[in-house]
Amino acid sequence: MPRPLFIVDLEATCWDDRPKYTVAQMEIIEIGCVLATPDGVVLDEFDTFVRPTREPLLSEFCTRLTSITQSDVDSAPVYTEAMRQLDAWVNSRPGIWGSWGNYDYRQFVAIEHSHPSQAAFLQMPHVNLKRPWKKSTGHRRTGLRAAMAFHKLEFEGRHHRGIDDARNIARLLPFIDYDRLRAAVGALNTESQNPSGH
Ligand code: AMP
Ligand code: MG
Repeated sequence: MPRPLFIVDLEATCWDDRPKYTVAQMEIIEIGCVLATPDGVVLDEFDTFVRPTREPLLSEFCTRLTSITQSDVDSAPVYTEAMRQLDAWVNSRPGIWGSWGNYDYRQFVAIEHSHPSQAAFLQMPHVNLKRPWKKSTGHRRTGLRAAMAFHKLEFEGRHHRGIDDARNIARLLPFIDYDRLRAAVGALNTESQNPSGH
């Protein structure tokens, strides 16, 4: 640090007519990623839809929530190919990756069990940005929209689209106390954790 940070936001298959399901049943349908400085300047972006293979048909609910359509995913690469493209984009800029909450990390862990990608990206340490944000602001409500509202920021783009979510998360970085972010990243060095390493 202050190295740039990759911020990832995943979208995945979801349903409103299933009483209960886990990340193991969900499949990634979008990988949105921005490379941002700790003060929130976006240096580069990567975005791809991903074609789900176990249940290729998106529910109407999922399309309504994410705005991602059946034809978006039908013409998209499958997960392992999408991760190959992500790696090519990251190229020689490894660092750490963060997400808003732990969902994205857990979703990678789940899919890596069934579709190991060997992605170098997932060898990078992960930080849950909600934690240092919460410590920095003392604010309890950590949903993305609530966090933005706390700073009087309007959400830009379409909430629940991976790339738009990632861009908006980057806008919260200036409000994360730099030492707290560093501490969260520093703690990772003693915690060996990466989705492909489990
Ligand atoms: P998000 O990053 O908040 O857009 O959420 C990531 C994924 O979590 C979505 O693509 C959905 O699969 C699932 N998800 C998020 N919000 C909901 C919701 N209100 N109901 C059902 N699934 C959701
Ligand atoms: Mg999202």
